Amino acid sequence: MIKSAQTSRDTSTVSTDDKTVKPATFAAQAGGVIDTETGAIVPPIHLATTYLRDPDNQYRKGYIYGRPDNLTVRQCEDVLTKLEGGVASLVSGSGMTAATCAFLALERPCHVVAPDVMYWALKLWLAEDAKSYGIETTFVDATNLDAIKQAVRPGKTKMIWLETPANPLWSISDIAAAGKVAHEAGALLAVDSTVATPVLTRPLEHGADLVMHAATKYLNGHSDVLAGALVFPRKDAYYDRAVRTRKMLGGILGPFEASLLLRGMRTLHVRVAHQSQAAMAMAQHFARDPRIGHVLYPGLPGFAGHEIASRQMGGGFGGMLSVRVKAGEAAAVRAAANVKVWKRATSLGGVESLIEHRRSIEGDGSPCPPDLLRLSVGLEDVGDLIQDLEQALGSNI
Ligand SMILES: *Cc1c(COP(=O)(O)O)cnc(C)c1O
Repeated sequence: MIKSAQTSRDTSTVSTDDKTVKPATFAAQAGGVIDTETGAIVPPIHLATTYLRDPDNQYRKGYIYGRPDNLTVRQCEDVLTKLEGGVASLVSGSGMTAATCAFLALERPCHVVAPDVMYWALKLWLAEDAKSYGIETTFVDATNLDAIKQAVRPGKTKMIWLETPANPLWSISDIAAAGKVAHEAGALLAVDSTVATPVLTRPLEHGADLVMHAATKYLNGHSDVLAGALVFPRKDAYYDRAVRTRKMLGGILGPFEASLLLRGMRTLHVRVAHQSQAAMAMAQHFARDPRIGHVLYPGLPGFAGHEIASRQMGGGFGGMLSVRVKAGEAAAVRAAANVKVWKRATSLGGVESLIEHRRSIEGDGSPCPPDLLRLSVGLEDVGDLIQDLEQALGSNI
């Protein structure tokens, strides 16, 4: 028995159970939690790993031990559940913990279908590690519905995994269409929605059975917390197995990190709105630059997935884009070396803009072209960002 985060909430505030208030309101007010003891409008951090038993040996308050559950974690989950329009969330120590829990919670042995363009570390886990856990993966071009259909093995395929937009080419998959394919085969559709965020896409509304986030990225947004999340549309047997998997593997997020993540989500809507606008401005600007061969951004009308993205994403196309430097790999690496405002680093979704020669980190076998620079647009002045990349590209024609 687990009690909700309502325990420390005053009745004179919004609650995540309130149907009339928009997700942005819950996010801005951290779920409306008011500390009943002090009236503090920032929820206190619950650090306890263990809880007092009642004299008759019961745990009526619903908390027993810190590995299965924690109130600060639960408050964080309540906000995310609301943002995604789900019924429950599980936050964990990293995006990889969330994703691997999602696969390990499947009835195994089983078969899964995953994109050939997806977050690199998870692709490596599926390709090299998952088999020993009884999970066999077929990688497909997930922008092609027929390819997904053909990869499905009726009775064996338990999950279709999508990432949209997908790292680092920002390929777009049709969530609703893939959901139909999954459901016809008796499989679940899971979506890594890290880049879209619940501000732009709510995969559960398009028929997905699971949403995964690297909360390390946009949800936290400040490059100072490693966290992951799973959001569920139902509390069914699969959800129960996911709860058990996180508990047994000890994957729960720590309370300090949960508190930081809760704080980060308060500004999610304004950050993502600004970052989407800025990324669009960057994409339009560099699409005209003779030193750039190709700008990859779902918001550009010429982009392969633009039509689906326009249907599936609302309020913007996200803060991630990639540019391919015409003069090739060495010129791309040189440009990344010359930036001053942009930070030369991996990861994404933070307030500071990051530039990365992505192929260097993904290595051999990666579908990432060697002339590609991945850009995570932050909250700096867009003019400064454009000017800095202009000067960094120099005379790379
Ligand atoms: C970063 C990332 C992950 C992994 O998250 P970690 O917190 O680094 O474990 C998964 N998917 C996407 C799309 C990511 O960007």
